[in-house]
Amino acid sequence: MKHFFRVLLFIAIAALCSGCGSQNGPGSAAGGQGGGGQKDGGKTGQNVRTAETTWQYVDTAMGTVIQQTLYAPDEETARDFSLQAMELLWGLERERLSWRLDTSEVYRANATSGSGEGFLLSRDLAELLESGMELSERSQGAFDMTLGSVTRLWNIDEWAAESNPEGFQIPSRETLAQALSACGYEKLRLEWEERDEGEREEGRGEEEQEENEREKCRIFLPEGMQLDLGAVGKGLGMSELTSLLEGQSSITGAVISLGGSILTYGSKPDGSSWRVGITDPFDKSSNIGILSLEGQWCISTSGDYERYVEVDGVRYHHILDPRTGAPAVSQVRGVTVLLKDGLLSDGLSTACFILGPQEGMALAAEYGAESLFILSNGEIVMSEGMERLFSETR
Ligand code: AMP
Ligand code: MG
Repeated sequence: MKHFFRVLLFIAIAALCSGCGSQNGPGSAAGGQGGGGQKDGGKTGQNVRTAETTWQYVDTAMGTVIQQTLYAPDEETARDFSLQAMELLWGLERERLSWRLDTSEVYRANATSGSGEGFLLSRDLAELLESGMELSERSQGAFDMTLGSVTRLWNIDEWAAESNPEGFQIPSRETLAQALSACGYEKLRLEWEERDEGEREEGRGEEEQEENEREKCRIFLPEGMQLDLGAVGKGLGMSELTSLLEGQSSITGAVISLGGSILTYGSKPDGSSWRVGITDPFDKSSNIGILSLEGQWCISTSGDYERYVEVDGVRYHHILDPRTGAPAVSQVRGVTVLLKDGLLSDGLSTACFILGPQEGMALAAEYGAESLFILSNGEIVMSEGMERLFSETR
C-alpha cells in the first residue's frame, strides 16, 4: 500500500515537473533543464529523464517529500547517488533525530530525562546541540530545541499529514504552562569529559568508537524536558548531503529539495544559474519570486502556512514562541534564509520567524546569512545581499 502511494506521489510530481522547464512548483528548486518529462518505464519506476544528463528522483524521508535533480553522466551513477542520499536521510532520522523511533539518539536521550545519569551522545549530535544552544543564546531564546513536551501537546507532527486532524484540541493555558516549566535551553546541560584509555561504548560500531575517541559528551535533561530537533532536521540533512556530494566527482550539479528546504550544488552543464522559487504564503500554489544562485547553497524557509491546524476559523501554526508555548504571534508569514551551512540556515529561519524582520535580519547577518521576510501585509523586506539574488514575480 505504502509503495502504491509512493508511486502515485511520484507520478503526481513527475507530472508537475514535466514541461515546467524552469519551475518545479511552489517553493521548490527549478532544475532548469525541463524537457521531456518522460517517465522511464524501467525497473525502479522512480525516475524521470528530463534531458541527456538530468535525472530526477522522488521519495519521502523526515516526514516530507524529497526531490532530487541530479546532473550525472549516466543513469546508473545518478541512481546510485540518489539511493545513497536517501539512505543518508533515513539514517539521520533513524539514528539521530527522531523522537518517535527508539533507535535514535534523541529518543534515547529523551528517555533519560530526569535521571541524574544523563546520556552519552555521538560527537555529531553533541556538536549539533552545541551550535543549537549558541543560536538559542544569540536569538534571546526564540530558538529552542527543548520544546518537545510542548510541541507534543500541540500534536504538530500529525498536522503534516492532515491540516485538520480529527479530535484535535487546543491545549489549555494551564497544560501549556506546566509543560513549559520543563523547557528552556539554559536548563540543558552538556558535559564533555576525557575518555578513559581503551574505554569502549556498548552498542557502538568501530567507526563511531573512533569518532568519539578523544572526548565524550554527556547530555543531562531535567525532569520532563524533551528534545525536539524539528527546526534543524532538514538543515542537518542538507549539510550532510553537501558532504556526500563533495566526497564524489560524478555528480556535477544537484538541486535537492527536502520539503521547503533546498540545497543547490555545483553547476548545470550550460552554466546557467540555479533558480529557486520562494512560495507565496498568500497563495501556496505560486511563487512570490525567484532566487538566482551559483554553486552550493542551503535555502531554508519557515512559514505559518507550512504546517497548521484551523479551529473555529483560527489558524494555529507550528512555530512556537518559547515564552508562551503557543504559535508565535509574528508580523511575518514566511522567512527564507540563505547560507552555505544547512543546519544554521534551518535554525535561523525558525528563529527569524519569531524575531521578525528587524531583529531576525540582524541575527542572520551575524551568521553571514542573507534573509528575506514576507510580512502579513504582503510587504517583502530583505537583506542587501538578497536583493542582488531575488527577483519578484508576483
Ligand atoms: P521550521 O519549519 O524549520 O521552522 O521548524 C519548525 C519545527 O521546529 C516545529 O514543527 C517544531 O517541531 C519545532 N519548533 C517549533 N517552535 C520552535 C522554536 N521556537 N525553536 C525551535 N524549534 C521549534
Ligand atoms: Mg528551521
